[in-house]
Amino acid sequence: MKIAHRIAHLTGDGSGGWGLYFRARALKAQGVEIADLTIGEHDVRTDPAILAAMDASARGGHTGYAALRGTEELRGAVAARVTARTGVATAPENVLVTPGGQAALFAAHHLVGEAGDRALFVDPYYATYPGTIRGAGLVPVPVSTRPEDGFQPRAEAIDAKAEGAVSLLLNSPNNPTGAVYAEATLREIAEVVRARDLWLISDEVYDTQVWEGAHVSPRGLPGMAERTLVIGSMSKSHAMTGSRVGWIVGPAEAVAALAVLTTHTTYGVPGFVQDAAAFALSLGTAFEAEIAAPFRRRRDIAMRLLAGQNVVRAVPSGGAMYVMLDVRATRLSGEDFAGRLLDEARIAVMPGESFGGAAAGHLRVALTIPDEAFAAAFARMLDFAGEIARGADRREATHAG
Ligand code: PLP
Repeated sequence: MKIAHRIAHLTGDGSGGWGLYFRARALKAQGVEIADLTIGEHDVRTDPAILAAMDASARGGHTGYAALRGTEELRGAVAARVTARTGVATAPENVLVTPGGQAALFAAHHLVGEAGDRALFVDPYYATYPGTIRGAGLVPVPVSTRPEDGFQPRAEAIDAKAEGAVSLLLNSPNNPTGAVYAEATLREIAEVVRARDLWLISDEVYDTQVWEGAHVSPRGLPGMAERTLVIGSMSKSHAMTGSRVGWIVGPAEAVAALAVLTTHTTYGVPGFVQDAAAFALSLGTAFEAEIAAPFRRRRDIAMRLLAGQNVVRAVPSGGAMYVMLDVRATRLSGEDFAGRLLDEARIAVMPGESFGGAAAGHLRVALTIPDEAFAAAFARMLDFAGEIARGADRREATHAG
C-alpha cells in the first residue's frame, strides 16, 4: 500500500517526540501505577454546568449542520473576550470558530504561504508544530532559543532566518517552557515581522495561565492586527479539551478566506458544542481563574521543592501548565533521564528533546495531577536526579584520581 509522502513524513522522525508518552500509556494499560506528568490535560473534567448547556442545546435541536464560521453567539462572545483581554477592537467578522486550537494552527498555516515556503517557529516548541507546518505544504524552520535567556526568543535570531519566510509562529505563555514573552521582546519581534513582511501566527491557548508577568497579545502592538492570526481555544482555559472548540482571530478578509477552507475540511464545529462554549465564556474570568488555580498551586509546590536542592534547575516559568527543568547536572540527556525515571521510579515526564534540540538536557513536567500526588512525585524525581548526579560526580572523581 502506498501512503502519500505528506502523511508518511508528517512527523519527520515518525513518533513526533511522543515515544515516552506512549510507553507510559502502555505500562498504565498493563496495570502498572505511574505518576503521569506527561500531557497537558486537567485532572478535572468539564464543569457539569457547561455539560448541561451542551445537553440542553443538543436536546433543543442544535444537532444539524452548524454555521460554518461559527454561530453568531459564539463569535460575538469570542470577539468580546478578545477585546476585553487585549484592548484591541474585535468583531465577529474577525473570528472563525475551529475544532480546537490544533485545527486553527493547521488552517492558519494554509493561509500564509505557498507550497515550499519557509515558515518560522520557535524551538523548543509544542510537539505538533513542525508536522502542522509540513501538513500545510510549508517548510518548518526552527529558531532556537536558549535556556540562559529563559527561552525568550531574540528578534535578531528570527531576523537571521527570515529571508524567504512567510510566517512566524509564536506561543506565549509557552508550551513546553512556561516562558511568558516580555512586552519588550514582542515589540522587537513585531518590528522584524513588519520589516520582513511576515504573517504572525500567535498561539495564545494558555492566555489564562499566567503566574508571573502579564500576557501580551502581539496582535495589539502597532501595525500588527492586519498581519496577525491569533490561535485560541477552550481546551486549556475551560477544561474542555475533548470538546474540540477553538478559534482564529484575524483580519476579516483572512477569516473569510479561511471559511472557504472550512467548507472543504471540517465543515464547522457541532452547534451544541459551540453553544456550550458560548455558555462557558459567559461564566467570565472568575471561572477561568478557578480552572487555572491548581496549576499555579502546583507550580508553587515545584518551586518550593526545587529550592531545597541544587541539582535540578528550573527554567524561570511564568505560565502554562508545565515547568521546564534543567537536568544536565545528572550528565544524562533528557531522554535518558526520563526513560530511567519511568523504568526505575514509575514517574512519567516528557524529555525536553521531544520539543526540539534547544530543550536538550531538560524535562517538561506537566502540573496535572492532584497536589499531594504531584508533590510526592516531584520530590521523588528530585531525589532520583540527586542520586544520579552524585553517582556521576563519584565516577568523575575516581576517573580524575
Ligand atoms: N497549542 C499549544 C501550544 C498546545 O499546547 C496545544 C495542546 O496541548 C494546542 C495548541 C492544541 O490545543 P487544542 O487543539 O486542544 O485547542
